[in-house]
Amino acid sequence: MAKILTITNQKGGVGKTTTCVNLAASLAATRKRVLMIDLDPQGNATMGSGVDKHSLELSSYELLTGQADARQARLIDTPAGYHLIGANGDLTAAEVELLSLPRREFRLRMALQEVGDDYDFILLDNPPSLNLLTVNALACSSGVIIPMQCEYYALEGISALVGTINKINQRLNPALKIEGILRTMFDPRMSLTRDVSNHLVDYFGDKVYRTVIPRNVRLAEAPSHGLPALLYDKSSRGALAYLALAGELIRKTEQEEAAADAAEKTA
Ligand code: ADP
Ligand code: MG
Repeated sequence: MAKILTITNQKGGVGKTTTCVNLAASLAATRKRVLMIDLDPQGNATMGSGVDKHSLELSSYELLTGQADARQARLIDTPAGYHLIGANGDLTAAEVELLSLPRREFRLRMALQEVGDDYDFILLDNPPSLNLLTVNALACSSGVIIPMQCEYYALEGISALVGTINKINQRLNPALKIEGILRTMFDPRMSLTRDVSNHLVDYFGDKVYRTVIPRNVRLAEAPSHGLPALLYDKSSRGALAYLALAGELIRKTEQEEAAADAAEKTA
């Protein structure tokens, strides 16, 4: 069964989409079966995967509103080898349409049931807000990855996000937990960066990934070529950092699975 992970932070420009695209590419490079779903009407993750958002026949809009199933909506030939359900401006209508649909918080969860066994990981990219689309993502995920830029205002709003995750955990999805906090656009030369980073570790402990994503121009350039950094410049520091993150995520997941197996045997 796929591990479903939501990449979210209600702040814009913190590296959500960059993380989603490059983590998906890195996991696919290690032969994991990956589906990425773009849940942002801006469609940046779609374009960054080398798919023209304007030419999508089916997208996450049709998936959420039940007009297409996941096997119909997915594209299976992105350059980096992961599967993609793309998004474009159509998705803005979904939020309103969802309001009148039954089980509106669980549309994505229901839609992904049939493809759960096709993948090792399903990654969900989100808009910079906490709306019904994000609630759908959180309601079907086992973990949340929170990219954070280590700047002065980074911690502002984080308690609202943690509060939302706790509420979803209590009301909609008891399996949901914070998978990891990812420090993005990291510049260790700045003392402010180091201070905020230390605060994050104090607050979230071992939830903070050891892997740090550096500020790297290749990560910023790659989307304009419709490629993850791994295909654009595979030896760039950005590409290597996301490969390391994929390794960390895989190891953590294997350890959790082993612990769950052991617990089952003793039960
Ligand atoms: P979000 O999805 O949270 O809005 P993005 O991933 O789109 O954020 O990143 C915002 C901008 O910063 C984009 O132009 C992106 O290319 C750039 N960017 C993201 N991560 C890095 C990084 N590690 N180094 C340099 N530029 C980055
Ligand atoms: Mg984005």
